[in-house]
Formats: sequence, C-alpha cells, structure tokens
Amino acid sequence: MTASELREILSEAGVVPSKKLGQNFLVDQNTAAWIVDQLEPEEADTVVEIGPGTGALTEHLVGRVARIILIEFDRRLAEYLRRRFSDRPEVTVFHEDAVRIDVRPFFAHRKIKLLGNLPYSAGGAILRNFLKGPSPFRRAVLMLQKEMIDRILAGPKCKDYGVLTLRMQCEWQAEAVKVVPPSCFIPRPMIDSTVMTLVPRQADLPVHDRRLFDELVRRGFAQRRKQLRKNLPSGIDWEKVSVKLGLTETVRAEELSLDDWVTLSREVDPLFEKEEGQGAHEMLAVVNADDEVIGSERRDVVHQEGLTHRAVHLFVLNKKGEIFLQKRSRLKDCCPGLWDSSAAGHVDAGEEYEDCARRELQEELGLVDLEIREVGKLGAHADTGWEHVRLFATLATGPVRFPCVEIEYGEWFTMEQIDVWVGAVPENFAPGFLACWRLWKEANSARFRDGGA
Ligand code: SAM
Repeated sequence: MTASELREILSEAGVVPSKKLGQNFLVDQNTAAWIVDQLEPEEADTVVEIGPGTGALTEHLVGRVARIILIEFDRRLAEYLRRRFSDRPEVTVFHEDAVRIDVRPFFAHRKIKLLGNLPYSAGGAILRNFLKGPSPFRRAVLMLQKEMIDRILAGPKCKDYGVLTLRMQCEWQAEAVKVVPPSCFIPRPMIDSTVMTLVPRQADLPVHDRRLFDELVRRGFAQRRKQLRKNLPSGIDWEKVSVKLGLTETVRAEELSLDDWVTLSREVDPLFEKEEGQGAHEMLAVVNADDEVIGSERRDVVHQEGLTHRAVHLFVLNKKGEIFLQKRSRLKDCCPGLWDSSAAGHVDAGEEYEDCARRELQEELGLVDLEIREVGKLGAHADTGWEHVRLFATLATGPVRFPCVEIEYGEWFTMEQIDVWVGAVPENFAPGFLACWRLWKEANSARFRDGGA
C-alpha cells in the first residue's frame, strides 16, 4: 500500500489516525511483504492478524493461506476491511479489542499463526492476552516499538530485564529480525520499530509450575532495587534455597537468569515431586470383562500384558459451566503433552471407583470435600486401553492447584469450545478423554441438541 492509497482509504473510511489506538500505518510495501514472508505462510494455515488497519500486511497474505482472522478495534477500519475483502471467503473480520478477545477458540485450528503490526498503545496487554501459556499459536511475527522488543530479549543485569522478559522467554524463543524506521509509516512515530519472530519454546527448560514461576517473578521485580529475599513470599527458606542455586543471599531479582528462576520455582514448589517413575509399582485392581475383580497386578505389568483394569475420569466444572482441561506433562509415559480430562487415574487394588475419583481430585487438582456425581460408564475395549472407565463430574468451589510433574498447563474451556476443538483437531486429546467426551455429550444430549453447548 502506497502513501497516497493509504490517505485515500483513511479519508474514505473517515479515519483520522489516533495516537490512542497506536495508528501508525505501514506504507513501505517491500517491508510489508517481507514481514508477511517471515510468517512462513503455508496453504493449510490459519492466520490471526491483530490490528490490520487498512490491510497493509493482509494484502500480502490473501491467497496464500486457508483462513485469515482479522481483529481490528477501530469500527470504521473493521467495516472498511469487510468491504475490501468481501470477495475473499477465507477472510473474517472481527471488530474486537485484542486485549480482551477470548483466545481459547483458536485452539480449534490445526495450524495457527499470529501476525501483527501492533499498536504501541496496547502492545504489552495484547502480548499478555495472546502469548501467555498455553498458547495455540505455532509461530508469530509481530512488530512493536523497539524498546519493548529490547525488553523481551534482554539478558540479566540490565535495566530492560524484568517481568516481561521472563514471562516471554519462558514460553517463546524470540528473535529480533528487522528494525523498521519511522519513515516507513504514516503518521511517522517518534521511534524505531522492531519486527520479532516467535516460536514456542521447545522442552529445553525443566518442568516447573508456570503459575508459581509467574508469581515469583512478579514479586521479585515488584521492587527491583530490593534484595530478592525481601520480595519473596514468607515461608521460603532463602538461606537454603540460595545455596542450592549458587547465589549470594543478598542477590537482586535482575541478577537471576531464566534458568535460575525456573530452578527457584522448582525448589519452593510445595507440590513438586521428583521427575521419575509413573507409579510403575503401583498395584492396580485387575478385573474381567464384566468388571468383576479377579486379582491385582503391578501397573507396568497390567499395561505390558493388556490386562483389563479400572480407571476414573473427572470433569471439573466452574460456576460458569466451563470445564477444566489439563495438558498432560511431557514426562508422562502415556499420551505426553495431550489435553485430557480435568483429572484421571487408575483404580488401585482394593479401591472403589468413587474413592479413586476423590483421591485423584485431591492428588491432581488439590480439591477436597466436593460432591461428585457419576455421569456414566465405558466398558473395557482396545480404545479405552482395556480399562473399564467411570466418568464423574463435580463443581469446583475454589481454585485448582496441580503438580507440574503431572500437568503442564490447566485451562477452563466452555463446552462449545471443547466440542468444536474435539471435532476439528481430535489428535490434540488423549483417547480416553475423547471417549469420555462422547459419554458426556450423550448424558447432556438436550443441551448439545439445543445448541446450548
Ligand atoms: N496493520 C496495519 C499496518 O501495518 O498498517 C495497522 C497497524 S497500526 C500500528 C495498529 C492497528 O491496531 C490500528 O489499525 C489500530 O486501529 C489497531 N488497534 C489499536 N488497538 C487495538 C486493539 N486493542 N485491538 C485490536 N486492534 C487495535
């Protein structure tokens, strides 16, 4: 898009560029095309573009990917984009605030990427909404004011290093790939912009509780000139922990590397267990095809020999009717990294289904004394891993806490979001969950039939 084309469009749409909306429009076509190429667009991709403005980046994307979702906060520009791309069925325009839009529906896309020349005014808040874990995006290309990108990429012991750095680096591998000068925009901003590429961080950091990590980092940098130990929650044996981390007792937050913060969150996590064993020696109830107990056997033997056994799954709901799903830890021997029921587990020898359900609720989610109800049963079959399964449901009245060695992330989803996601990308889920979801839908058929879920 050239400068004169842009001026014409803005005047036609009745838009006077607003500083509050960070409206600095890109008018360097080569730069726009180059930025879009950094996304490595592929035919099967869905691309979400934040703040498309008049479509300076979008026009280099149409025809190259399967779907384009545009999120524009300025109503007049959203209407203009609808008119402009009305002949492109793959383009959908949302007149929405990217700071607040619900990103959970994006999980239902198999290959989804994120693009944006973000408004300076809301860049940090948009990053928080779109890039906090768990994120559905496989790649992102974002342009922001250079200072913000410098903060994301900073290393320890410098003024740019802080909460934003650690939260982003913990989830993403970021790289600054181009500095774009003010002359490429109308109106010209006062400062340079930087284009950054992001890919999800591979499993190179040891498992740790993401929420605890966030909390520690937030507290640690709350008063960055103070010694870290004075900012941390009480109850931490800092003398012992600092020795373990090889740090002086008087260290400040900005002196700890990302690895140090991860180690710190593992050391002070009351739910942290050693990353070993998947209870191979646990004794499970062994049953026959009619679900009658015929003996007991070690968990590893049960699985190796395909013996019929028992399991429970739990769907935990909140007051909004959303269901908590867990993303299984990558350390799990079965279905690592897949999304699963709120909690699930094997019935031990001598244990009843309901007792097992209560135990799993406590062990996996820290929930006790809840009323649970049985939703239904699944017979043992190759699809259920030769498990007789009972599905239970309960309503959580308090927050859930989970051990990071078992569960990497947890998130609440609406039933409609889960149903669309299960239909679109079933391979994201553990097979046991998919069987339970079918059971859940049958048990709640009225709700699903009426389109309520
Ligand atoms: N992509 C266009 C380009 O490169 O020329 C416009 C980029 S301009 C820097 C930022 C765009 O974000 C503007 O169109 C502005 O209206 C939009 N915007 C501002 N705040 C927003 C928000 N909270 N959610 C979505 N879009 C927003």
